[in-house]
Amino acid sequence: MSVKRESFGFMPDGTEIYKYILENDAGTQVHVLTLGATLQSILFADKNGETRDLLLGFDTVEDYLTKSNYQGATVGPYCNRIAGAAIDIGEKHYELVANEKGVNNLHSNGEFSYRPWKAIVPDADRVELSYLSPDGEGGFPGETTVKVIFRLSQDNKLSIRYYGVSTRDTFLNFTNHAYFNLNGYASGDILGHTLRIDADRFTPVDERSIPNGENMSVEGTPFDFRTAKKIGLEIGADHEQLKMTGGYDHNYCLCDAPRALTEIGEAEGDLSGIKMNIYTTLPGVQFYAGNFLSGKEGKGGFPMAKRTGFCLETQFYPDTPHRPDFPNCLYKAGDAYESETVYAFSVTAQDENA
Ligand code: BGC
Repeated sequence: MSVKRESFGFMPDGTEIYKYILENDAGTQVHVLTLGATLQSILFADKNGETRDLLLGFDTVEDYLTKSNYQGATVGPYCNRIAGAAIDIGEKHYELVANEKGVNNLHSNGEFSYRPWKAIVPDADRVELSYLSPDGEGGFPGETTVKVIFRLSQDNKLSIRYYGVSTRDTFLNFTNHAYFNLNGYASGDILGHTLRIDADRFTPVDERSIPNGENMSVEGTPFDFRTAKKIGLEIGADHEQLKMTGGYDHNYCLCDAPRALTEIGEAEGDLSGIKMNIYTTLPGVQFYAGNFLSGKEGKGGFPMAKRTGFCLETQFYPDTPHRPDFPNCLYKAGDAYESETVYAFSVTAQDENA
């Protein structure tokens, strides 16, 4: 195992951004940027031994600051959406930035995602990023201390552990917004990938993409991924929820409260044989099929076209601050938020595919 550090460029104010390269003895690499605690690349060998980069992303700081749709970024203090861009905690009312359609707060307007973080290397298999979010930043209460630890194991598991603690009562909901393409970022759309998600229910949304109050069974709908199927199989089906969001962009309900690390699904690239098993402690996961990717040029100038990457953003449910029936993510001042998500990579042997 080794961790190496390189310069990745500079913020407009001159702050240097670093890239940390975690490498295991098998040659698998994970690249993490101090800008937004961003997962920039995952280099993994496919069924023919050829290395592929499994993440959409960019080559420069400037591109991350001007063209990103959160590619690989850490998102917080509250990922996903908050209706009306406002929250109430006790007697206090907090106004947030309405950065989506003028009505929602989406991904905390990038508070965590486009800032320089600090990094240390506590061990030869991990990098620890930290960020201090000032009281009131983006409208959110409390000075919040955040740590994200990326660790790569010898058996190709990437663990992401999150810690957060605030000086005021506040909602905390962190995620990583990696866009995966298990065939490699430059190999076209992800519709041929197979996907399994171990969820019986999801939270359907209204026209603002806010959970509409129903808790819908996946049974008999295109949302049923309990048995692995191709992402593209029913993405164009005549279902009002798919039309509402232009393809899959929904929170799947995994359990009712945070729990021990549990496997929640699996994806596989049809061209590469690269498989990814997903584990999390969190109660929800946003399956987003990259419907809004618009062809902006990413790594190597390659256009990130519609559905060339998919996201499995582990999380508390969207709009939890307004939904007492959802798993709770209100943390008292001084109480620690902790979660872990693991993406485990392997390859389906060639003869299994034959
Ligand atoms: C949202 C999508 C959004 C994407 C990028 C996802 O978490 O659900 O609707 O386009 O993030 O912001």
